[in-house]
Amino acid sequence: MSEGTLRLFFALPCPTEQAAAICTWRDERALDGRPVSRANLHLTLAFLGAQPVDRLEALLALGAAVQCPAFQLTLDRLTTIGKGFVCLRPSETPAALEYLVATLNERLAAQGVVLDSRPFLPHLTLTRQARNRPHGPAPAFSWRAEHFVLYLSQNTPDGARYVEKGRWPLQAPKATT
Ligand code: ATP
Ligand code: MG
Repeated sequence: MSEGTLRLFFALPCPTEQAAAICTWRDERALDGRPVSRANLHLTLAFLGAQPVDRLEALLALGAAVQCPAFQLTLDRLTTIGKGFVCLRPSETPAALEYLVATLNERLAAQGVVLDSRPFLPHLTLTRQARNRPHGPAPAFSWRAEHFVLYLSQNTPDGARYVEKGRWPLQAPKATT
């Protein structure tokens, strides 16, 4: 990370209870690869990469201005993507999740933040650098996504640590009558 920049991404954190259940299941299955720590389980909404420190304020304002209803997220498939990322993914992407990601992308683009052009693929990474590439059904780990966050990703001797810089509720806009 070069000086004067922050490695940032918007994400849905995995609630503590579901994270514990997911880790128990993962560890019982002895999935190949390096396990992601329980505290780091999340679903990336938009990866911003290295951003100038002085853009943080605008990004926090952007997060605060997003209005999107809460939704039920059900991760019921095991899959392996890229260079051996073993993940949980939803078999159906909730419309509100698509909307949230599209809204973030649009507003980030309007601020001149260039994002990865690959299509959004909702996933929660369980292990990395796996040589075996499992695919198939998984228990339906499910929770109501009621907020999203902006994480700062920091390198530490123990691996990546995510620091929450902002957190916003997911809620339908209030009717103005
Ligand atoms: P490390 O890379 O140090 O092992 P990490 O992958 O947990 O740790 P980051 O690389 O900062 O931390 O990534 C944070 C999140 O953003 C992860 O979910 C990662 O999969 C995702 N991510 C990283 N790079 C990209 C990218 N180019 N496009 C989309 N998502 C990305
Ligand atoms: Mg990474």
